[in-house]
Amino acid sequence: MPLRLDGGGFRLLTAHRVQHNGARGPYKGGLRYHPDVDLDGVRALAAGMTWKTALAGLPFGGAKGGLDVDPKGLSPAELQRATRGVMDKLEKVLGPMRDIMAPDMGSGPAEMAWLMDEYGRLHGHTPAIVTGKPVELGGTVGRVEATGEGVAIVTHEMAAAIGLPLAGARVAIQGFGNVGSNAAAALARLGCRIVAVSDALGAVRNPAGLDVDELVRRARSGIVGHEGMTVERITNEELLATDCEILVPAAVGGVLNAATAGAVRARLVVEAANGPTTPEADRLLAGAGALVVPDILANAGGVIVSYLEWTQNTQNLAWARAQVDADLERRLVAAAADVRARAAADGCSLRAAAYRLGVSRVGRAVRLRGYV
Ligand code: GLU
Repeated sequence: MPLRLDGGGFRLLTAHRVQHNGARGPYKGGLRYHPDVDLDGVRALAAGMTWKTALAGLPFGGAKGGLDVDPKGLSPAELQRATRGVMDKLEKVLGPMRDIMAPDMGSGPAEMAWLMDEYGRLHGHTPAIVTGKPVELGGTVGRVEATGEGVAIVTHEMAAAIGLPLAGARVAIQGFGNVGSNAAAALARLGCRIVAVSDALGAVRNPAGLDVDELVRRARSGIVGHEGMTVERITNEELLATDCEILVPAAVGGVLNAATAGAVRARLVVEAANGPTTPEADRLLAGAGALVVPDILANAGGVIVSYLEWTQNTQNLAWARAQVDADLERRLVAAAADVRARAAADGCSLRAAAYRLGVSRVGRAVRLRGYV
């Protein structure tokens, strides 16, 4: 896809959209903006969405998209042209009953507004074509916070299951974008002590607890490099090895791997990011007695509230925040209970249980449609 640059000239970008499975309903999943985006990675993420929507009981299939660019390296005008360009290339395979995009790493409400507007220019106003839109343009209240708040809800359920009190529990969070920062705020409200956080520029730690409100205020300009906070500056590796009860990887994939997982001291690892743990790391963590809450459960709050946005759009409704929050909590608590029960019945990990549930629900839909 050629992108016309502000200073004249063009840059060639590559965008992907993978529609993995649609047996349970329209394809659903985010659009990621990151320089490392490639087809294989998008394929894996699309498959993850298929199992995630099934696990959450949503009437959606799974998809993911990506554009191989660092959005911070583009001007606002270039970013808008790139985003409209993606829609111009994809509009024929999307639709509110066919494939619904949403935010992912590097994208948010602004990009969703441009995607909706571009689709509307071609097909007429269609708010249900994307979720994660600004509230003023048909987005739902609570969508921005949904993934992070969902991480806190699932953490609450799983901590209770292993007898870990959240009041005073020490939490380290890797990644302080939309998901990490909202998870930090929600976990702090549940009584957790946030002792370490990191962003792309570095990490900070204070065993007595960090001021989460202050960190959220600073998140846009980078949480490190600021004066006036009582913090110890640490590396990302040190953050993963921080002495804490709960570790929340909320950034890129693959951060818990054979080289880093051995140093993890948390009892509970909650995968706010997609794919943060490699299979070797999974084995190391299990061997060390840590409970890993898999991504397709831990971060399902985002797509759950996307579903609530889509249902509001198709009925021209605008729910109150309390209704969104109650629905999100009910669905996540049920999904967490399903995963726990399956893990206990099968004697397997939470990850295996979550996959078994997701895959079997998709399998049932495939059989009911008469495909096999
Ligand atoms: N990108 C998010 C995810 O990985 C949200 C997807 C959506 O809301 O459709 O789950």
